[in-house]
Amino acid sequence: MTVPDLPPALLRLTIDRTALAANWHLLDRMSGAAAAGAAIKADAYGLGVAAVVPALLDAGARQFFVAHWCEVAPVLAAGAAPEQIAVLHGVNTPADAAYARATGVRPVINSVRQAALWRAAGGGLCHLMIDTGMNRLGLPPADIGDPAIAALDIDIVLSHLASAEDDTDQSARQLALFAAARSGVSARRASLANSAGIALGSAYHFDVTRPGLALYGGEPCDALAGELAQVAFPQTMVMQIRSVPAGGYVGYNATFRAPHDMRTATVSLGYADGILRCWGEGGALQHAGRPLKILGRVSMDMIVVDCTEAPDLAEGDFCDLPYSLAAAAQTTGLSQYELLTVLGDRFAR
Ligand SMILES: *Cc1c(COP(=O)(O)O)cnc(C)c1O
Repeated sequence: MTVPDLPPALLRLTIDRTALAANWHLLDRMSGAAAAGAAIKADAYGLGVAAVVPALLDAGARQFFVAHWCEVAPVLAAGAAPEQIAVLHGVNTPADAAYARATGVRPVINSVRQAALWRAAGGGLCHLMIDTGMNRLGLPPADIGDPAIAALDIDIVLSHLASAEDDTDQSARQLALFAAARSGVSARRASLANSAGIALGSAYHFDVTRPGLALYGGEPCDALAGELAQVAFPQTMVMQIRSVPAGGYVGYNATFRAPHDMRTATVSLGYADGILRCWGEGGALQHAGRPLKILGRVSMDMIVVDCTEAPDLAEGDFCDLPYSLAAAAQTTGLSQYELLTVLGDRFAR
């Protein structure tokens, strides 16, 4: 059978492309002589590559970073050129290397083993990630002299800051290690700073910066607080208005008991949408600027809110989930990164 077009979704995630472009321009200016690229892994931190990449290309971004090979095709489809895309996890199997060669997308080589896999597949221009103390993924500086590394044709040599948002001397130590390691490899360009790293100053900028969170309206550090515009605006439809009598319970495990007769609204938001139970304590939705306090637990696919303060709220209306990231992180205890990347695919973007 031919499947008919879907009806409009109950969940909407509106992406403000003007705000996104403004955030990129700000970060590009703050990057000084370096060009700001964009970290767009995890479907552009959950916002959707299909909307984010064209807006960033229009703004002037020319270097994109994803984590997995499965993330490449949507970025190509959104208009980026293969040589503008870097895959941070690199080549972990010969099949990864073959895919890189076939697409023209550049792997970030993270180890002597990855360098050998890349060369065995035919090699070509790639990037090189050097670990400078995060001990996550990347070439240990001691391996820089390995013949497999010397044989690479390197576009960007990178490292990643572990704590750029913190007041710590780890960033300066990483910078010094990166500068030393960089002099031992021949690369066309160098890149160290993520969003918070950009705010650390020109010594951290090199040729390309790699903002992620800040592009999407996150505030990783005080220096960027108040400077970035919110980009992602989640909304959900009211499916049912109910009257809960005094003493009635709401939601799973009956953690809320109505102290008086209440008018409540049931909306479609749940774990699979990235709205976890941590929203239930202290969280609220909004309608026309009025708060709708969350009652009881997020219960699988639904949330019940108090609409006493919004007596005109009706079934079929859309409510806003306040998603100013710094404030939402306070409410939920989730990091701003988690708040973005958990947003599920039941949102129409
Ligand atoms: C995710 C990521 C970034 C972006 O970091 P933000 O803190 O979101 O700006 C930059 N570089 C690498 C290697 C990354 O994995």
